[in-house]
Amino acid sequence: MNVWTGTRVPAKTAAPPITLGSCWISGFRTALSMGEHLGTGMPSQPRRIGAHVSIAGSLLSAIDEADALGANAIQIFSRSPRMWKAPPLDPEQVAAFREARKERGIGPLAVHASYLLNMASPDRVNRQRSIRSFREELERARALGADGLVLHPGSAKGYETPAPAIEVLARSIAEACEGFNWERLGLWLENTAGGGASLGRTFEELAAIRETILAETEIPVGFCLDTAHTLAAGYDIATPIGLRETVKTVDRTLGLDRLKLIHANDSKSPLGSRLDRHEHIGEGKIGREAFGRIVNHPKLRSKPFVVETPHGADGTHQRNVQALRSLVR
Ligand SMILES: [Zn+2]
Ligand SMILES: [Zn+2]
Repeated sequence: MNVWTGTRVPAKTAAPPITLGSCWISGFRTALSMGEHLGTGMPSQPRRIGAHVSIAGSLLSAIDEADALGANAIQIFSRSPRMWKAPPLDPEQVAAFREARKERGIGPLAVHASYLLNMASPDRVNRQRSIRSFREELERARALGADGLVLHPGSAKGYETPAPAIEVLARSIAEACEGFNWERLGLWLENTAGGGASLGRTFEELAAIRETILAETEIPVGFCLDTAHTLAAGYDIATPIGLRETVKTVDRTLGLDRLKLIHANDSKSPLGSRLDRHEHIGEGKIGREAFGRIVNHPKLRSKPFVVETPHGADGTHQRNVQALRSLVR
């Protein structure tokens, strides 16, 4: 099992989950210089902490931003997430981006898919447009050398229950992925706050989506957990006991080995509100102490954490990454 993509590899060549990809050697060195060691004197796996960075300007500007933030894991949009049309990627920029990423030891690289996609849509035109656009997202993510494409499962609006929407979603994903060579890329389904009819609020539902997809195809499906969505969905990760129960539920339903990425966002909206409103780390309903427990949880600490909190010229993004890093023990 490839640590980041969930790609099945033959047992003979399967690497132990702690093995570092050789392209992350420089990131490893960075982590060592940050003093992350086990008590044994052996170097531990470097913590993977980063942010959603912007490709506005150029792809390379995302790597520069990661550098400035001290991020060794990143997420990007490969195009505007709120527009259907996307200009093609420039092959020269792509090559420079891949090279710079390798040099800086950044991994994983996640690409977040467009917010417009709803492959579960009962409307044929919207569904087909979503399928075409999702295929483009896959091809762009693979071209960029991404480890995962993060997808919000979609909406069950127009259906009486989620089950038929999940069937349509799985068929649409199968259609979009026909003949696609995944290479190292995986599809990472993100849990949602559950507002409106959005799919993927509960871990049971996310697991059901994966199983329904796998009944049709052999797509490498993993998961992305958003902490703000998790709280708003009704899982009380702000308390020690709530976090313990939530991690247990994630393991039982999704499988912790399939959890590829954590979106570290505090939540403006309270537990169970189903409102998706991100807040700066430590300043929302999850809080600083709870984030300390989350990033240091023995079952979560090996996972990459990426902050998605809003950022601007005022350095709030920097503050959030630093806040998260400062909590790592
Ligand atoms: Zn998302
Ligand atoms: Zn998220």
